[in-house]
Amino acid sequence: MNHQDIRNLSLDELCCFLKDSKEQSFRATQIFKWIYQKGVTSFDQMKNLSQGLREKLAKQFTLTGGNGLKSSPAKQISIDGTTKYLFELADGEKIETVLIPTKTRATVCVSTQAGCKFGCRFCASGVGGFKRNLTTSEILAQILTVQSQLPLTINHLSKITHIVFMGTGEPLDNYENVLKAVRIINLKQGLGIGARRITVSTCGVIPGIERFSREGLQVELAISLHGFDNASRNALMPVNRKYPFDKLMQACREYTKKTKRQITFEYILIKDLTSHAQAAQKLARSLKGVICKMNLIPYNPVQEFDYEAPSRKEINAFKESLIRRGVHVTLRSARGQDVSAACGQLRYQTLKGQHK
Ligand code: SAH
Repeated sequence: MNHQDIRNLSLDELCCFLKDSKEQSFRATQIFKWIYQKGVTSFDQMKNLSQGLREKLAKQFTLTGGNGLKSSPAKQISIDGTTKYLFELADGEKIETVLIPTKTRATVCVSTQAGCKFGCRFCASGVGGFKRNLTTSEILAQILTVQSQLPLTINHLSKITHIVFMGTGEPLDNYENVLKAVRIINLKQGLGIGARRITVSTCGVIPGIERFSREGLQVELAISLHGFDNASRNALMPVNRKYPFDKLMQACREYTKKTKRQITFEYILIKDLTSHAQAAQKLARSLKGVICKMNLIPYNPVQEFDYEAPSRKEINAFKESLIRRGVHVTLRSARGQDVSAACGQLRYQTLKGQHK
């Protein structure tokens, strides 16, 4: 077996390793608790394990300080408390993670890939191209590091309450590693975060959505729609050429039918492109038969692109138009804009480059 991070192992895999090593399998639960609940970063700190077992673990696995990421992350804190972390991975790749605190919630927005291959025309994540998938341990380490820095002075929350897979990358394009992380986040011996407090967001990778519907998880699914018909979606999201609008809506209908779970659609409001009256009409029509909620996101400015957000008035008109047509609508407020941590602003970049 290679010398890998122990956080790449599911609870079952760890049990198997222990059995093979002539150890009792309940030790797996103890090890999980040390890692995910007590946040230790060395096997030596696992006090209820024998010296022998600790040595065996250290020989087989890593559990490095800095949570498997090369060094402690650079951090930028917004005036609204939103905190952006820039991690450097062991191979030098860089990824970003965002903590979004409110009075009652501490949400962590995690990245699943270094860079992104989907190239949505409004999103900064794809600007530097795709580098690689993150491992399960790299996904979990983002959360563990943020957890280790709580409580925040801003709201005194001492525990992460929600996880959203809305950082850089496409979760369903890194399916196995993401799902394994989701299960560990959810597991009571792991991070113990309720499934309904975990959201996986996709740009519309249909085979991934189908597979996800068969997992038997209560995890929330969000779909980045951003178009009101095939042409408008084609213009903004290259993935729509492979998985076109109508087929995506059909897959969503099937997903809600099969799982009895609601889908959240994310829809960016861009001036003159996606926010006009006809867009609202067409959008409402295409949502028929899908149990869903529509989350409107006013476009967040990204340096490389020329789009603009609509006026407050247009945004409200769009929202009202959907409501009149029976759509359940929420409007997302931008958080962390001053530290480029708002939706779509995360990008592959170096600290020296654009970070202040
Ligand atoms: N690849 C996945 C996960 C990323 S989620 C997905 O596409 O869903 C990031 C969310 O921010 C997506 O809904 C994305 O479409 C949105 N986003 C990207 N750029 C944005 C921008 N400039 N303004 C507002 N939202 C943006």
